[in-house]
Amino acid sequence: MSADCIFCKIIKGDIPSKKIYEDDEVIAFNDIHPLAPVHFLVIPKEHIESLASCEPRHQALLGKMLLLAPKLAKEQGLKGFRSMINTGVEGGQEVFHIHVHAFGGGDTLPKT
Ligand code: 5GP
Ligand code: ZN
Repeated sequence: MSADCIFCKIIKGDIPSKKIYEDDEVIAFNDIHPLAPVHFLVIPKEHIESLASCEPRHQALLGKMLLLAPKLAKEQGLKGFRSMINTGVEGGQEVFHIHVHAFGGGDTLPKT
């Protein structure tokens, strides 16, 4: 838990969010500025700054987050989606609590 982290505050319930999944290790909630009709974030409850801060002990947790994305995407009605993990300022990361973006719906997403 990090006192000044927005996502830790969402986990605690101090900042409201539209949660779509929660268990003892992870939560998923809708992104406040969606890039597509469906856009959610999967985050661990442990405060880990980024993919670059992950350690071997996080291997199962990372796998769990990735496996959750297609399950939730299907539940949200998506046939396909884009997943993204921004790492570091130069990687476009703005919130320094690791998160997997998953978004899609509407038109086919442009090629990257
Ligand atoms: P990043 O750029 O770090 O990969 O993505 C951070 C994401 O968190 C952005 O897409 C942004 O819209 C989302 N976000 C930032 N603050 C909040 C918030 O308070 N609530 C929710 N639901 N999403 C947030
Ligand atoms: Zn945090």
